[in-house]
Amino acid sequence: MNQTNPYDVIVIGAGPGGYAAAFRAADLGLRTALVDEDPRLGGVCLLRGCIPSKALLHAARLITDAEEARAWGIHFEKPRLDTEALRRQVETVVGKLVQGVQTLARSRKVDVFQARATFKNATTLALSGSEAPRELPFNHAILATGSRPVIPRSLQIEDPRIMDSTGALNLPDVPRRLLVVGGGYIGMELGTVYDALGTEVTVVEALPRLLTGADPDLVRPLHQRMQRRFKAIRFDTLVERLEARKEGIAATLKGPEGTAVDLFDRVLVAVGRAPNSGNLGLEQTNVKISSHGFVEVDRQMRTAEPSIFAIGDVVGEPMLAHKATHQGRVAADVIAGNPASFDAAAVPAVVFTDPEIAWCGLTEEAAKASGQAVAKAKFPWGASGRAATLGRTEGLTKLIVDPDSGRVLGVGICGVGAGELISEGVLAIEMGAVAEDVAASIHPHPTLSETIMEAAETFTGQATHFFSPKR
Ligand code: FAD
Ligand code: NAD
Repeated sequence: MNQTNPYDVIVIGAGPGGYAAAFRAADLGLRTALVDEDPRLGGVCLLRGCIPSKALLHAARLITDAEEARAWGIHFEKPRLDTEALRRQVETVVGKLVQGVQTLARSRKVDVFQARATFKNATTLALSGSEAPRELPFNHAILATGSRPVIPRSLQIEDPRIMDSTGALNLPDVPRRLLVVGGGYIGMELGTVYDALGTEVTVVEALPRLLTGADPDLVRPLHQRMQRRFKAIRFDTLVERLEARKEGIAATLKGPEGTAVDLFDRVLVAVGRAPNSGNLGLEQTNVKISSHGFVEVDRQMRTAEPSIFAIGDVVGEPMLAHKATHQGRVAADVIAGNPASFDAAAVPAVVFTDPEIAWCGLTEEAAKASGQAVAKAKFPWGASGRAATLGRTEGLTKLIVDPDSGRVLGVGICGVGAGELISEGVLAIEMGAVAEDVAASIHPHPTLSETIMEAAETFTGQATHFFSPKR
């Protein structure tokens, strides 16, 4: 059954970008529809990304905290793992949040369609799949179709023991030996989960370091800890071939020490994600796609087709849920005629490993690469009273500061809870704070947040708990 009355806005994709866009559009009084082929709202983030991975990381942290309690004279027995119950618990967390999003859609009177959407032209969407085929006319569409895991051809063999992130999150079992291909966000987060559950984890990374994009001094404490916990972390190494054998997956690894074949029970491939911009009928519109497959947009999230906007992973890096949400809200506002654009000075990034790594704004490496002169103000967590009480002094907090004005341009943190701390850095950057503002704001004692204040104090050479000799 085709509709003739066009929607003000149809959002394609119900991830954190798409549902946020639909909710904002509805709140602004626009007649809104939300289409997703998945029967559950929430997208990759809620169903097979952020939320299940963080729930599993919480379980991992319980295990490692119990192990490390020994140092405090508290002895727990070796944990007995009930993987079925763990899977159920993760599913309960996800299920509750999905229900919440569905309730919010209903309360706002957003029409939800479960179907695959393709563009028939710049004002009509064709729906197919689980709903009966139909066409929906629109005045504006917001494309929020997200991204999917990339599996290089050399690693594509038909064997259930080769997993992408979705497969690994399903926790099919706890393998004895796991090969993680890619030392990025997913490799390090899910490597952390499987390590805590008792798996022998080997990470192979094509580049000479983990988590390229984060400053190396922030990554170092994580690298040192995981080097002790994982079986191996191999840099400058490529998986040349995977072969399915009865006794395991034989991986041919080529690195600086030569080529060797190792046997693993499972392999997690986590080498990046690709945008879902194909098979959408976009060739029936003027929407432009870059050579990397991303939909091209301006700062108001407009594509080259005036009626079509695009947001989230499908428009490019950083592929993060909160960026998608923010862009979704911008698109809805622009469609409603409000002045809005996506010009964030600081999009925070958090790697939820143990310790966590978080950064926002300018990184030291990016400043170096562009030749921009910056000052660094670092506070080592060895000097933090709170870190000492937690037995986790390996962290670091640093500010990247404009040397002339003292303005905070970037913040980087490595340590437990870094992901919760970074928002102060985002606020400082967005508000145009100078280091003195941060230093002069009283932070509660003893907290890890004090490390941000003390890092700012090191910029003025006045940190209480860190002595920097006068030059
Ligand atoms: P998605 O969430 O990808 O949603 C797109 C939706 O579009 C999907 O539901 C899909 O079914 C639907 N769709 C696609 N094509 C069509 C079509 N033709 N018709 C109808 N529906 C369609 N980010 C963070 O910020 N923090 C984290 O901790 C984090 N952890 C992650 C962990 C993992 C394991 C993974 C894989 C990702 C993680 N991410 C994290 C990234 C985050 O999930 C993405 O950045 C985010 O989901 C992107 O949101 P989106 O709205 O652009 O699209
Ligand atoms: P990634 O880009 O973070 O890391 C991929 C890593 O694989 C890189 O270090 C890259 O050098 C390496 N690599 C590429 N090809 C390789 C090969 N053939 N052999 C060995 N190593 C290879 O990608 P990801 O870990 O797959 O995650 C995808 C995206 O999902 C992230 O970039 C991020 O945007 C998002 N994500 C975010 C979070 C979070 O916010 N906490 C968590 C998970 C995923």
